[in-house]
Amino acid sequence: MARRIRFPRSRALAAAAILVVAILSVALVYRQRPPVLHVQSGFEMGTFVEIRAYGGKNAADAISRGFERLREIERLMSTSIPESDIAKLNTAQPRTPVQVHPDTAHVVSSAIAYAQKTGGAFDPTVGKLVELWAIGSGNETVPTSDEIRDALLGVGYENLVVDSKQSRITRLTDLRLDLGAIAKGYASDEIVELLVAENISGGVVDLGGNIRVFGRNPLRKQWRIGIQDPFRPRGSYIGTVDISSGAVATSGDYERYFVADGVRYHHILDPESGYPASPQLKSVTVVAETGIEADALSTGLFVLGLDEMFDFIENVPSVGVIAITADRRVIVSSGIAHAFVKASEDFEYEIR
Ligand code: FAD
Ligand code: MG
Repeated sequence: MARRIRFPRSRALAAAAILVVAILSVALVYRQRPPVLHVQSGFEMGTFVEIRAYGGKNAADAISRGFERLREIERLMSTSIPESDIAKLNTAQPRTPVQVHPDTAHVVSSAIAYAQKTGGAFDPTVGKLVELWAIGSGNETVPTSDEIRDALLGVGYENLVVDSKQSRITRLTDLRLDLGAIAKGYASDEIVELLVAENISGGVVDLGGNIRVFGRNPLRKQWRIGIQDPFRPRGSYIGTVDISSGAVATSGDYERYFVADGVRYHHILDPESGYPASPQLKSVTVVAETGIEADALSTGLFVLGLDEMFDFIENVPSVGVIAITADRRVIVSSGIAHAFVKASEDFEYEIR
């Protein structure tokens, strides 16, 4: 009797064990199925934008939400949208605090911090100069020195006061704000945060050369970013840099510029002289932990020029630089040299 009872129990146990093994195998197969790549691109903030995300069914929706977030930031921070916070600030009476969205207060206060760090080489108050040169508008002319002197009046990040608690910003002079050199980096960070919250396993956010990577790349150990050859069509690279997370942003003279009397005038302006900065440079790529830092510093270090930029990064070990000069030299900072692979015979390469 006792044996009869024990026999079916052991069969039941065996059946249960087989079931568990079957469930575990299904789970394992499911886990091992590689995540699918979802890609969406578009034209936002006046530039080409692409979001690539590895994930399941929700990835496409998550990317769409990323684009919505980008448009939300554009509506707040564009100089050309009359209802934006920045347009409101630029038309308000000087010395009158303007209520803005907390995101705008955050980006403006970060911009002031980068202006302080770079000694004003990056300066978000260059708006009048940007309007004067109007580079990228299609009908550019070289301004007179009087016009440049007038546009420089009031420029200076110290004339901007942010009350972060109340989200209020005050212009002390009639300066114009322009977040063109920092807002895309901020937006890339915000999109990555959103994709991570949506359980996306890994991906790349590219906002016109402001690139953020995150999570696991199922194809290789790290993410490989191409560094544009400034003398050749888009997609030709002077080299690549491999990173497991973080941001890579490039500021260059080769996309927004015009030529007058054989001289090339580009859109990265020196807040001191009022003229396009560092004619000896073609591009500066910054590798950093966040998009906002890489964006602000790629512009600021371009303005500082070759020697000062390398002095600057000596004190910021988390930041790497790849500078390309007009005389075809590629200078890579020592901290990221191990991650850089050259891809062209047209340049001289050096590590500094
Ligand atoms: P970066 O080097 O990162 O930035 C250069 C830009 O920053 C210049 O174009 C100028 O605006 C500003 N700048 C120049 N010198 C300095 C300096 N020393 N310090 C700080 N800032 C400086 N472009 C359009 O054509 N149409 C649009 O509708 C449009 N909307 C935009 C909306 C938003 C919210 C933003 C952020 C940008 C928008 N742009 C638009 C601008 C466009 O995408 C620019 O080309 C871009 O911002 C320049 O970025 P970059 O990475 O090429 O160069
Ligand atoms: Mg920038």
